[in-house]
Amino acid sequence: MKRIYSAVAVVFTLAVACTTSPEKPSPAIAYSAEVENKVEDVLARMTLEEKIGQMTEITADALGKYPVDPEKGFELDTAKLATIIGKYKVGSILNAPHTSAQTPEKWQYIVGTIQEWSMKTMGIPCIYGIDNNHGTTYCAGGTLFPQNIGLAATFNRDLVRQGAEICAYETRACNIPWTYSPTLDLGRDPRWPRQWEDFGESSYMNAQMGIAATEGFQGSDPNKIGANNIAVCLKHYMGYGVPFSGKDRTPAYISPQDLREKHFAPYLAAARAGALSVMVNSASVNGMPLHANAELLTQWLKEDLNWDGMIVTDWADINNLFSRERVAKDKKEAIKLAINAGIDMSMDPYDCQFCDLLKELVDEGEVPMSRIDDATRRVLRMKVRLGLFDAPMVTGDFHKYGGDEHAQAALRTAEESIVLLKNENSQLPIKQGQKILVCGPNANTMRCLNGGWSYSWQGHIADRFAAEHNTIYEALINKFGAGNVTLCQGVTYNEKGAWWQENEPEIEKAVAAARQADIVVACVGENSYCETPGNLTDLTLSENQRNLVKALAATGKPIVLILNEGRPRIVSEIEPLAAAVVNILLPGNYGGDALANLLAGDANFSGKLPYTYPREINSLATYDYKTSEEVGTMEGNYNYDAKISLQWPFGYGLSYTTYEYSNLKVDKQDFAAGDIIKISVNVKNSGTRDGKEAVLLYSSDLVASLVPDNKRLRDFTKIELKAGETKTVEFALKASDLAFVGYDGKWRLEAGEFNISVGRQVATINCTETKVWETPNIIE
Ligand code: BGC
Repeated sequence: MKRIYSAVAVVFTLAVACTTSPEKPSPAIAYSAEVENKVEDVLARMTLEEKIGQMTEITADALGKYPVDPEKGFELDTAKLATIIGKYKVGSILNAPHTSAQTPEKWQYIVGTIQEWSMKTMGIPCIYGIDNNHGTTYCAGGTLFPQNIGLAATFNRDLVRQGAEICAYETRACNIPWTYSPTLDLGRDPRWPRQWEDFGESSYMNAQMGIAATEGFQGSDPNKIGANNIAVCLKHYMGYGVPFSGKDRTPAYISPQDLREKHFAPYLAAARAGALSVMVNSASVNGMPLHANAELLTQWLKEDLNWDGMIVTDWADINNLFSRERVAKDKKEAIKLAINAGIDMSMDPYDCQFCDLLKELVDEGEVPMSRIDDATRRVLRMKVRLGLFDAPMVTGDFHKYGGDEHAQAALRTAEESIVLLKNENSQLPIKQGQKILVCGPNANTMRCLNGGWSYSWQGHIADRFAAEHNTIYEALINKFGAGNVTLCQGVTYNEKGAWWQENEPEIEKAVAAARQADIVVACVGENSYCETPGNLTDLTLSENQRNLVKALAATGKPIVLILNEGRPRIVSEIEPLAAAVVNILLPGNYGGDALANLLAGDANFSGKLPYTYPREINSLATYDYKTSEEVGTMEGNYNYDAKISLQWPFGYGLSYTTYEYSNLKVDKQDFAAGDIIKISVNVKNSGTRDGKEAVLLYSSDLVASLVPDNKRLRDFTKIELKAGETKTVEFALKASDLAFVGYDGKWRLEAGEFNISVGRQVATINCTETKVWETPNIIE
């Protein structure tokens, strides 16, 4: 008997040691009595109509005067203000009028007038929101940074934070307190036209950059957003980046494990860093549109994280529940589904029918009043936290708007975002005095450098707004002298057609010009696009552009291939013809200058790929593919294989110097679930040039109860090393970071071996226990 008792006791003790009891986590954003008192005070005095108004968002165009006087540009129509703000008490307006950038003065007029109406009719300020995706993109004269995909390539959190701070400052200068940024979709399928809007394919990278961006935009206290800060809106929650068809806004099918472990992780991280709002994925995951998914909206985001922020729909997406997704028979049913699922604000751009129908639903008992109060509280809370009740108009000193200090930050960021993928026989740097031919459709356009969400939704008017900035051609002239640089494009985009259309090529002219040159800089890639219009039928680089590179290469002149694209277009046919390849992604207004500095060797490359660059269309892999996706040839009769064919792997990037990694040390050979594992490695700049190196820490679970990922990025840092200098880089990794979501949906860390790797250095360590978390998320 005694023995049996002690065995039970041992089992019991182990069970206690190995599980975590479910309990509510501490609030994602700290409770503030001051904020809550103000919210309750306002709420107590509101009518149902006013509450529903707070839950409504309308686009600026719906308030405009038409026809537009070309002299005056966008003007607000008083009758429409009276209906939308006066009658319907709408609490939020979005977008740049005509989706076109406005001057700060114009913004002051637009937002200021709307605020006057809101304060006069309700005493509740409006919250104006805008898509400032890569800097102050809808504000004329504002500073444009690389798109997020380029920010990810910097592997530098500080640059992301700084860029967000600058963007917040310039957005406030326009009296706008809210931005639909950062985008934290995982760009894991290059066929999808929005891959460049997020921080690449890694969940960890999106989480880290999401935190940095949230802190930069909002400042240090989410309960008191500073006068030069703005609220973020994380988007698009979640699973948007992996549509099965590769086309925008189409269904995704994601395993429960991947959904929690990878797609949810960036939202969790940024919500806990204080993000005040979230926008929802337009499409469906596993058959359920996100806008109707109570489990993901209310349970995962609001309850499990104890997050008191606000959830807004994407553009007209409640309508899409019946018109496209067909999970509701009409608009009224769609509203019921969405609001009951946890939507707090409907971006229903052009009319206020939402208000009438939601009121009917409340009167009929189909949407409980408690849900209306909860949603209204969340909207008001954001307005209180932003200080809008105290200062609905912003009139500060914003003399740094679009100035040199901000330009320098954008230039340095662009330099760090550019990735050197090949440099045979040290073809680069280009020597002063060499005769350079610049060609290709991306050679002389600000539109291509910026991509979508630049002065307009599709980015198509960037050359007008950014005329004072330098295209690649102009920047190369500034760097190497007009007499040394010739432009002959050979292939150009048809600016009057769809973004992907090209004019009749003039390849022979470019070939003739190449014969007179010492070196050819061939700028290829994509023209700007955004969202669904960016859908593709073929990921391969266009035929004209491939023909251009082939013809140029036939001259025997060395080719420097510049890739300027929102997603990795397949270049396997022409890559072998190039002596050097540089991927500039979408570097923004300072991209031309940054590239010129790098090509001349005045700056050193330090960007690394934030995604896996495919070689073939049927090899679209991510770096964390399942180990069974890449298997060698079997022996015997069935000698097939399953090989992933990559052009360049995730994390790849060269520089003008070389780095040697050595002496990888892990402080524990054996570790338990609660441990912190300390890792150090020496990194030496073994070349002759100073440089910056992104140091990436990976783990691999060698055996697990679910097919393990090949490897996972667990940390990164960017260090500066003088030529010859060595630095020791230290990482502190929580053992729980090595956990994965098991078949039963629970987080688990399993006993057994893990490889820890940095560069080519690998150490094997051993987890001594299996731990299963009973809470939905690991929050320690
Ligand atoms: C996009 C969002 C954007 C919203 C508001 C939608 O079409 O999907 O990313 O924030 O429009 O402009």
